[in-house]
Amino acid sequence: MEGKPKIFIVEDERQIARFLQIDLEKEGFDTAIEKNGRRAYERIIQEKYDVVLLDVMLPDMDGMEICRRVREISDVPIIMLTARDNVKDKVNGLDLGANDYVTKPFSTEEVIARIRGILRRRNEVPRNEENRLVVGGIILYPDRYEVRANGELVELTHREFELLQYLVANKPNVLTRDQILQKVWGYDFLGNTNVVDVYISYLRSKVEDKINEKHIHTIRGVGYACRD
Ligand code: CA
Repeated sequence: MEGKPKIFIVEDERQIARFLQIDLEKEGFDTAIEKNGRRAYERIIQEKYDVVLLDVMLPDMDGMEICRRVREISDVPIIMLTARDNVKDKVNGLDLGANDYVTKPFSTEEVIARIRGILRRRNEVPRNEENRLVVGGIILYPDRYEVRANGELVELTHREFELLQYLVANKPNVLTRDQILQKVWGYDFLGNTNVVDVYISYLRSKVEDKINEKHIHTIRGVGYACRD
């Protein structure tokens, strides 16, 4: 892990958040605080944290909802901060993919021990990284034929997916139309190679335009190249 581990404290009770922040920083962690649920969700998916401490009762979006939504796209470790003896919260939190929980009122030593435990396990156990290809804000998951642009699922046809996968997997190399045809369409194409251009235009409008990024470049007289 590079630098200090960054801990995101999502807690609307200012005093609790502040105590956690002081103690965590004393222990050598970087911290950030958010008290609003909806903003917390946005920050978790946009920024990079090593561990999220997530309160359950929050304004605008509660901790359970945040946990559920974050798990759709991220495996960032989450420790729920649950009310004392609220067994339902604990079970729900773990069901939704939280890694651990501490019950209020907690000591910061306890929270720190949980954080260290998670960080240690993450470093020791080689994680079963899912096969994925990335260019800018676009992530492809070849095993499940899924594409996400800035976290949002994009609907592509099988052929569009194969084309995008071929381009991204070979970035930043230039691929000729013939190479693309043979690889993606799988036969010696005798007719017009325009079909490649047409499918490239589909990808541009379905994926790139959606997030205002440009990675698929036309190389005049040659073909296409995908670049970061
Ligand atoms: Ca709260």
